Amino acid sequence: MQRTDAIIIGAGQAGLSMSYCLTRQGIDHVVLERGRIAERWRSATWDSLRLLTPNWMSRLPGWSYAGSEPDGFMRRRELVDYLSDYAGSFAAPVLEDTAVHSVRRADGAYRVVTGSGDWQARSVIVATGACQHPRIPPMSRRLPPQIAQVTPSRYQNPHMLPAGGVLVVGASASGVQLADEIHASGRPVTLAVGRHTRLPRRYRGHDIMTWLDLAGILDERADAVPDLERARGQPSLQLVGSAGGRTIDLPGLRARGVRLAGRLERIDGDRVFLAGDLAESTGNAEQKLSRLLAGIDGFIAGHGLTRIAGAPEPRTPAVLDQPALRLDLGRSDIRTVVWATGYRRDYSWLDVPVFDAEGEIVHRGGVTPSPGLYVLGLRFLRRRKSSFIDGVGPDAEELALHISMHLAGASRAAA
Ligand SMILES: Cc1cc2nc3c(=O)[nH]c(=O)nc-3n(C[C@H](O)[C@H](O)[C@H](O)COP(=O)(O)OP(=O)(O)OC[C@H]3O[C@@H](n4cnc5c(N)ncnc54)[C@H](O)[C@@H]3O)c2cc1C
Repeated sequence: MQRTDAIIIGAGQAGLSMSYCLTRQGIDHVVLERGRIAERWRSATWDSLRLLTPNWMSRLPGWSYAGSEPDGFMRRRELVDYLSDYAGSFAAPVLEDTAVHSVRRADGAYRVVTGSGDWQARSVIVATGACQHPRIPPMSRRLPPQIAQVTPSRYQNPHMLPAGGVLVVGASASGVQLADEIHASGRPVTLAVGRHTRLPRRYRGHDIMTWLDLAGILDERADAVPDLERARGQPSLQLVGSAGGRTIDLPGLRARGVRLAGRLERIDGDRVFLAGDLAESTGNAEQKLSRLLAGIDGFIAGHGLTRIAGAPEPRTPAVLDQPALRLDLGRSDIRTVVWATGYRRDYSWLDVPVFDAEGEIVHRGGVTPSPGLYVLGLRFLRRRKSSFIDGVGPDAEELALHISMHLAGASRAAA
């Protein structure tokens, strides 16, 4: 059994940020990673993926983008290098190919069982990601066997799909990007649209992220949000970083030939039933966008920034169609369904009673009810930006202080 003060599970941006903060505080620790550093970006994203946040927005504790294109968007390979270089910059104690099989409390500490030996530590930080596994609705089991089913984690490029049409389910960041790419490869695409968050790539002459950052919208604290559960469940942003960053939205997709439909409601063999809610969901997204942009306008006016801000760009009106409520897959020649329906977390290895009814870790700002057990990198953990590359750092810094105090208390109790 090997002993240390803190064990971080996962070597993505969250685990590495925490490792940096603990290193700076002189806290002995290891980072256990089942694959390699930045594994998600190596093995669970599609070939053409670029970050949807600009390069300057990749600030981590003690590390930031120093390349020649601060307004560009990293490819997945560049991000793997960026995170690997970060780990190298402070000699992060990462043990790769070390999957954690179980964590349980023992003798006032945690016993961590891995594929290559056991560890004990008084503190454990779960940094295994908010987007661990694709969330596929149970109705997927009702699809006929001849229909291929793919998720964004397994999808690589359009050539891997069987010939024929494609139904993409979900119109958040992954769904709109994949619908666009698959359609551009020459296949007919239908996009089943549920709740979504419309966002233009640029607003008043600048990248939208510049305004969200400057206006402090991404810094909004979890404890200041009236309905935190709702805020945590918001759909991801309809944004794309490819082609130097361009707007991707439903009116644009429709103009390029993607067929839009309402939310997928039910599957009965070859028949797929869709809700008649497209006008409603696009209308809601439009209203939310208008409120957000009005807030940015207020910020610009209130901070005397009108001179550096351009005029608001014209916006294509929302799609208000009444599309078909039923699709016959065979007749429509649809051979593939892409489930871009979000992600779930898997804590089957965490044998500590800290879960709610949905199997999510109960925590307050990353501090769980089990002393010394923390979680980092989840959506809106402490701030709106908590699950972004640019947002995990401040959370890690605050939690590292908590860990340090916990360890100091544990040392005093042991003395
Ligand atoms: C498709 C997609 C695009 C995104 N684009 C952006 C973007 O442009 N900008 C942005 O800021 N954010 C983006 N995000 C959000 C976020 O930055 C990523 O989800 C990011 O990967 C989160 O980092 P993380 O360290 O929290 O988790 P992850 O990167 O998922 O890292 C978790 C690590 O834990 C390891 N692990 C899991 N279980 C175990 C175990 N039992 N034992 C040991 N190791 C384990 C995994 O192998 C993995 O390496 C995107 C997310 C997705 C899904």
